[in-house]
Amino acid sequence: MQLSKHFKLEEFEKSSTAIRLGITNKAGSGEIKNLTDLCYGVLELVRAKFDKPIIITSGYRSEELCVAIKSSKTSQHTKGQAVDFEIAGISNLELALWVQNNVDFDQLILEYWKEDEGANSGWVHCSFNQESNRKQVLTFDGKNYINGLPEAKWSGGKLTN
Ligand SMILES: [Zn+2]
Repeated sequence: MQLSKHFKLEEFEKSSTAIRLGITNKAGSGEIKNLTDLCYGVLELVRAKFDKPIIITSGYRSEELCVAIKSSKTSQHTKGQAVDFEIAGISNLELALWVQNNVDFDQLILEYWKEDEGANSGWVHCSFNQESNRKQVLTFDGKNYINGLPEAKWSGGKLTN
């Protein structure tokens, strides 16, 4: 099922853990509506800016899947309001910075970011809530949440971290 020009519902429901454990991970109509808002509100804008395919590493999560992966059952992923993504060859910090400065969102988290592991470490978590977007920005290194994004280091017009 196509949600928007570049995104299909199946990309948000796919979970290797769900497949491995035989867990059903199908979004209902309310979640599909929220995922569609997320596509138009955030992902299509990122897709247009970087002009490269977006890799969705986690989208919708059923309650059963949350339990299996020890994610919170109240996570915005369970409502179809959140997505984890990255783009091959683009620093996740660069993606997060662009979202922070150009998109209306609820919560933006640069997750599992480790500066010494290079530009591809971690991924970007972004949520969108049609009713109210808090515009909260956090960085999570696997242990602690800190406010804001790390300082970007530029060299010759390119981000080096
Ligand atoms: Zn997430």
